[in-house]
Amino acid sequence: MMGQQSGAQDRLFYSFNLDAHVPADHLLRGIDRFLDLSDLRQHLTAFYSHTGRPSIDPELMVRMLLVGYCFGIRSERRLCEEVHLNLAYRWFCRLGLEDGVPDHSTFSKNRHGRFRDCDAFRQLFETVVERCITEGLVGGEGFAIDASIIRADANRRRGTPSTAQVEWPAPEQRTRAVREYLEALDASEPVGAPPKYLSMTDPAARWTAAPGCPAFYAYSTNYLVDVKSGVIVDVEATAAHRTEETEATKTMIDRVAERHEITPQRLIGDTAYGTGPMLEWLVEDKGIEPHVPVWDKSKRSDDTFSVSEFQWNEQANEYRCPGGEALRNEWRKFKNPRSRVTQDSTVIYHADPRICAQCPLKPRCCPNMPTRKIARSLYEKSRAFARQVAETAAYRQSRKDRKKVEVLFAHLKRILKLDRLRLRGRRGARDEFLLAATAQNLRRMARKWMQTTMTEPIAAT
Ligand code: SF4
Repeated sequence: MMGQQSGAQDRLFYSFNLDAHVPADHLLRGIDRFLDLSDLRQHLTAFYSHTGRPSIDPELMVRMLLVGYCFGIRSERRLCEEVHLNLAYRWFCRLGLEDGVPDHSTFSKNRHGRFRDCDAFRQLFETVVERCITEGLVGGEGFAIDASIIRADANRRRGTPSTAQVEWPAPEQRTRAVREYLEALDASEPVGAPPKYLSMTDPAARWTAAPGCPAFYAYSTNYLVDVKSGVIVDVEATAAHRTEETEATKTMIDRVAERHEITPQRLIGDTAYGTGPMLEWLVEDKGIEPHVPVWDKSKRSDDTFSVSEFQWNEQANEYRCPGGEALRNEWRKFKNPRSRVTQDSTVIYHADPRICAQCPLKPRCCPNMPTRKIARSLYEKSRAFARQVAETAAYRQSRKDRKKVEVLFAHLKRILKLDRLRLRGRRGARDEFLLAATAQNLRRMARKWMQTTMTEPIAAT
C-alpha cells in the first residue's frame, strides 16, 4: 500500500536531541574534538565595552567562521542562512533548535570591527598548531615553504599608475583598506620595486600576472608546512612579490622557533628561495640544510665554458681557468683598498687580457670580450653547500615532499574556494589566510582521528 505523509507540522512540543541527529562520522564532530576556544574570551576582553547591549558571543562568531572556511561558504549572508538551516552546523555552533542565528549584517560588523583589531585569529591558529604537535602530527625535521597568489577584492580597472600623483580621499572618507595602507607607508619603507599600478580600492594589493595571463591585484599566502603529515605550522600574508615572500620565510621560521620551539633540519622550497642572502641565512645563521635549487644564471647555453669549469682556490682568492691561468679580483695594489663588491653582492674576477688575447681557448671562453669575467657571490660558500645537498638522495625525497604544499594550495582554492579574498587590506588578507589555514589543520586532524577510530568509511563532506 502506498504510504502518505500526515503533513502535520503544527506540534508545539517536540522531544528532539540535536546531538543525536549529527552523524558520528560527520567532519564537524572531529573538528569539535580538537577545537579549544577556552582562552578566546580572555583574549578579547580588552576589545569589548563593559556597558551597552551584549554583542554576538565571540565563540559563536569563531565557530560560524570556521564552518564557513571548512566548507567553502564564502558569502557571510549564505553562511548565516546555512547555520540557521543545517542541524550539524547548529550543533557545532552550540545553538539550540530555537536559538537565533546572528543577522548577516551584524555578523559582518563584528567581524570587520573588533576581530580585525585584535590578534584572536593568530592565537586560534597557534592553539590549533600546538594541538597538532600534541597529537604527534608534526615531525619538526623538515619544513616546506611556498607561496600562492590569491586575487584581492579589487577591480582591475579601478587603478592608477603608481608613478602618478595619487589623490586620496579626505581622511574622514577613507576606507579601512586605504587608512591601513597609508599608515603602513608612514611606518616603513615599501619593499622592492614599486608596482606598475596601484588599486584605489585596496592599495596594499599588488598588481601582478602569471606569464601570458591578464594582470590583476593580489596578495600572497605563504605556507610553512611540516612534511610529516602536511600540517601548516605557520602562515603569513604578503603582497604578491618575491622579495616579500622570501622575507616572510624568515619571519615564519623564527616565529615557529619562538612559539613552538621547533627549528627544522631542512627547508624545502623552489628556486625563488635559492637566492644568495636566503641561503646564507639558512646555512650560516640558522644551521638549516637548504633543499632548494640555487638561483643561478651562470650556466651558458652557447657552448662556451661555464663557471663550474673554473677551479676556485680559497687561499689564493682566485679562480683557475681551463687554460691554467689565474682570474683575480685585484691585479694591482691600490693605496686606498677598494671593496670591489657590486650592487648585486658579487665580486668580479677576471683574467689578464694580454694572456687571454693569445690563448687558443679564447673562442670557447670569451669570444666577444677581451677577457673572461666571473661574478662571485659573497654568499658563494652557502650556494656551494646547497649545490652539494642537491646531489643527495635526501634532496630527491625533498622534491617529492614539496608537493605537500602544492596540494594544500589546490585544496585551499578548489575545495575551500578561497581563490578571491572577501576582506580588503593587508590585515583582511592576514585574517582570511589565518582562518583558512586553521580550517585546513583542523580538517586534517579530524580526518586522521576519524580514520583511526571509525570502522565505517567516512562520509564525503
Ligand atoms: S681566454 Fe683567458 S680565461 Fe679563458 S681559458 Fe684562455 S687564458 Fe683562461
